[in-house]
Amino acid sequence: MKRALFLDRDGTILVDPGYPRDPEAVRFIDGAELGLRVAQDLGFELVVVSNQSGVARGIIQPSEAKAVHDRMVELLRQRDITLAGSYYCFHGPDEACRCRKPEPGMLEDAARDLGLDLPSSVMLGDRRTDIVAGKRAGARAVLLGATIPEADFCASTWGDVVAYLAKHAAEVSP
Ligand SMILES: [Mg+2]
Ligand SMILES: [Zn+2]
Repeated sequence: MKRALFLDRDGTILVDPGYPRDPEAVRFIDGAELGLRVAQDLGFELVVVSNQSGVARGIIQPSEAKAVHDRMVELLRQRDITLAGSYYCFHGPDEACRCRKPEPGMLEDAARDLGLDLPSSVMLGDRRTDIVAGKRAGARAVLLGATIPEADFCASTWGDVVAYLAKHAAEVSP
């Protein structure tokens, strides 16, 4: 079994302009690329789990969602960072799907598809819904850029995230 770092995308890996649809506008959060590289080197499988309700709302075309994803993957590839998987929920909040965070469906699907050990995995995000999804899946949950009691750790920066992951990797085996 492998451990995963589940990653919210907008506001966690990428700067969030609100319903991102322009691949040329893709920008990384400070420290994200280095942090992802270190996480990869620590043995975490990198898995994006992202709500994109802008598709259901008609704000983002599916082709635009794909273009933004492809641009991120290409920029990561240039840094020798490989995503083990990417899971997107394109539903709206009224559709009661099992994938839209805070539901844990995307994490559960990834665990099944990729052979991931959830108890030794970590969910990283910038919103409470990310933390709840991670906890519901049975993983640890780290919040970036804010503080809430449900999180296992609250990080101010990606540097803090990396420090947490290094400690976690040393203490918890898949
Ligand atoms: Mg986010
Ligand atoms: Zn969904």
